[in-house]
Amino acid sequence: MAITGISTQIMIGKTEEETFSRKEIETRIRKAQDLLGIKRLLFWNAGEESNFDLVLDICLQTGMEAYCWFPVAADLMNREVMAAESIENITGTRGYGRAGRWPKLGRGEEKFLFACPSHGEIHDENSALLGRLLDKHPFTGVFLDRIRYPSFADGLESLFGCLCPDCRRAYEDDNFKISWEELRLRQEEMFHFFRNAAAVDWAPLTQWQKLFEAFGLSDFYEFRYRRIERLTGIYTTEARIRGRKVGLDLLSPSLSPMTGQDYPRLSRHSDWIKVMSYCYANGPAGIPLEAGSLLRGLKALNPALSDAEAAAITGSFFQTSITGTPEKLLRNGVPAEYLKQEVNRAAVGMPDRQDQLIPGIEVVNHPFFTPPVKKNQLTAYLDVLDSMDCETVICWNILYIPEEYQMMIKQRMNP
Ligand SMILES: [Zn+2]
Repeated sequence: MAITGISTQIMIGKTEEETFSRKEIETRIRKAQDLLGIKRLLFWNAGEESNFDLVLDICLQTGMEAYCWFPVAADLMNREVMAAESIENITGTRGYGRAGRWPKLGRGEEKFLFACPSHGEIHDENSALLGRLLDKHPFTGVFLDRIRYPSFADGLESLFGCLCPDCRRAYEDDNFKISWEELRLRQEEMFHFFRNAAAVDWAPLTQWQKLFEAFGLSDFYEFRYRRIERLTGIYTTEARIRGRKVGLDLLSPSLSPMTGQDYPRLSRHSDWIKVMSYCYANGPAGIPLEAGSLLRGLKALNPALSDAEAAAITGSFFQTSITGTPEKLLRNGVPAEYLKQEVNRAAVGMPDRQDQLIPGIEVVNHPFFTPPVKKNQLTAYLDVLDSMDCETVICWNILYIPEEYQMMIKQRMNP
């Protein structure tokens, strides 16, 4: 058993342009390619236009497939998302929720403020931008990121969105059985449950679909899936009409349903999927942060829950044992075996498309990222990947993956 292929990601923005010379960027990419025989390089250019030629020329010369790593609903390339264009949640406000929200949200370069998936103008403009990038540059494909509703890191109120007028129209056009007014009443009941239910009431409901069913909200659960599939289709069309491939960046199956991402449906639009079951990352999509946000969110909405009870409910949703505080979870992460468990979970629903699934692992160790991924954590990941006999995407930014780590990965690859 071994790792059968490596892809990686590179993001070049202001920080990277100030930190590295162009020559240094080139050297780092070429070195990684020499060592690991990188199959796909996923490139987000948040800096100078000339970076496109720099990176794409290296890809063409070395036989790497270049993918345009493209943000769909948050952190757009050419404009900010305004709060007024973002998800309207159960409290009637737009923008981030409050309960369990990641305290650092909105402070870094990445805002994770999500545009409503039904917003016409934003997605017309943004998908047209993708089309222009593909016309201009010889990318093999697109790698779509942030195709979703907000996750727990944005605050739990967002689970009940989007409730904006555009979404209401879309919902009513889809001829669901229950009316919008009835839907809102049922949502209020579910929100009441979040604020009042005892731990024992949660026990039979710790699967997302079951929870929504229990409150008669299956239609809304379905609606969110449909909105995200439709949105994905808008962007993948830009790639397909130009004969390009499509990769998708999807959240770990334990939380993807709550962001409207359904693996089986979305796999119909893609050639491959990166599964983001990050066991250590202290940022959105990372299991420690997302599970910690759910835990803190449950407590914030219902202070009567004890820490241990909120941890147990969270652990049931994530299908892993969570003990201790969110701070401890952030420090220690979850065991690397969780990655395998989650990839298997995704595979169950898509038996004929399992070969699309490629686990991503975070491998950065650089002062910009806290905490850095430690050597023993990487070893644990590599042991798991070994046993899975699969490809992997090493994240996020090849510029910050130490050579020593790249050597460790190399040793686990097929000769
Ligand atoms: Zn909306």
